[in-house]
Amino acid sequence: MLRNDELAAWDRDYFFHPSTHLAQHARGETQGRIMRTGHGVHIEDRSGQQLLDAFAGLYCVNAGYGRTEISDAIAEQARELAYYHAYVGHGTEASVTLAKMVIDRAPQNMSKVYFGLGGSDANETNIKLVWYYNNILGRPEKKKIISRWRAYHGSGLMTGSLTGLDSFHKKFDLPLEQVKHTEAPYFYRRPDLNMSEEQFVAHCAAELEALIEREGPDTIAAFIGEPLLGTGGIVPPPAGYWDAIQPILDKHDILLIADEVVCGFGRLGSNFGSDFYGMKPDLMTIAKGLTSAYAPLSGSIVGERMWKVLEDGTDEFGPIGHGWTYSAHPIGAAAGIANLEVIEKLGLQDNARDTGAYFRKSMAEALGNHPNVGEVRGEGMLCAVEFVKDRDNRIFFDASEKVGAQLAAATLANGVITRAMPQGDILGFAPPLCITREEVDTVVAATKAAVDKVLG
Ligand code: PMP
Repeated sequence: MLRNDELAAWDRDYFFHPSTHLAQHARGETQGRIMRTGHGVHIEDRSGQQLLDAFAGLYCVNAGYGRTEISDAIAEQARELAYYHAYVGHGTEASVTLAKMVIDRAPQNMSKVYFGLGGSDANETNIKLVWYYNNILGRPEKKKIISRWRAYHGSGLMTGSLTGLDSFHKKFDLPLEQVKHTEAPYFYRRPDLNMSEEQFVAHCAAELEALIEREGPDTIAAFIGEPLLGTGGIVPPPAGYWDAIQPILDKHDILLIADEVVCGFGRLGSNFGSDFYGMKPDLMTIAKGLTSAYAPLSGSIVGERMWKVLEDGTDEFGPIGHGWTYSAHPIGAAAGIANLEVIEKLGLQDNARDTGAYFRKSMAEALGNHPNVGEVRGEGMLCAVEFVKDRDNRIFFDASEKVGAQLAAATLANGVITRAMPQGDILGFAPPLCITREEVDTVVAATKAAVDKVLG
């Protein structure tokens, strides 16, 4: 077996890491770890240190680490048939079975699922389908996509454009011109502290209307949104937000894409965020919780209204020219089937709701009165703590102070992995859905000790 220092040298010499400060990593300053094994909410790195992963990887290991039901299903599928493609009507028992399982759990008007590999490619598929749909309908001008600032929809050319975070645009020549961003439904960061929640919702709706009017409703094809903003800060929408947005989209014949990559399959204690917030999407993006990341698999769920047009369109224009070699990969599909069975057998959606509520309550009790805590928020098994310099006047820390990063590092030193969300001083928590109350207590204690150390 390679020694740890040899592996670290190979890592620096040969491995191009995603979303990493390349120069700092080359200098050995990033504190990256090489992980070795995991069980439940715990993972262990190669030096033997055990950590409680309160972010479930990248909020994806929903079933928890080390589930042999899922790894056995993967091994069995690999032995039987590791691969066959899904072009020109082919498939495998696993891919067809998982498609039925997904549609059975999706909202009623959902019709078919197209399987990809990750959330980014699923959203690329969605936008291509939206464009294709409007071309079939003879509306070549109706192509622009509205997203929100602080959204996260991936890091491809189109999806990186939809993402509303500066670091995903800067120096990449993004966003593409077809993408427009509107106000994020982020009540804590409302433009005027005197706005009530209701007024802020009306403001978000008015901003959207104004953007549509400015661009021309006939040029806007779709609106994409995470039911609850994830990477942008783990921000539940203010009450009534989706009810205010939906009629505007309907009025201008704008499709709704619900990006369920984080919310889907139980994180909010429901099958989907769309169910939770009463959204009526035309397309839904799924990934992460679909397989709990045991294998890469994503999906674009297509609703009836689009499906009919797509189907009729191919009668006129021929086969749809869109596909990946690994679309509906049988190993991913086998992982998905076993994962959904585990989640349901263990009642993890209920645990996400109940233990998630306990998580936020405990976090709010431990930190809610701290002078640098602006807000403790979340939903289901998601929690965020937003730190500010001056809580009464909502004055944020200067970004150069890197308060969020310091807090995440101090929490890690206490044995718990959290995530410093990329924009603002926000600690994010999204543990595996199987976390227990005792494990929640450990996370809260580690976080509180870190806050006391860094902020006093
Ligand atoms: N959509 C959302 C809401 C996400 O959170 C993410 C990933 N964090 C993506 C899309 C992109 O998924 P992936 O990284 O698998 O491409």
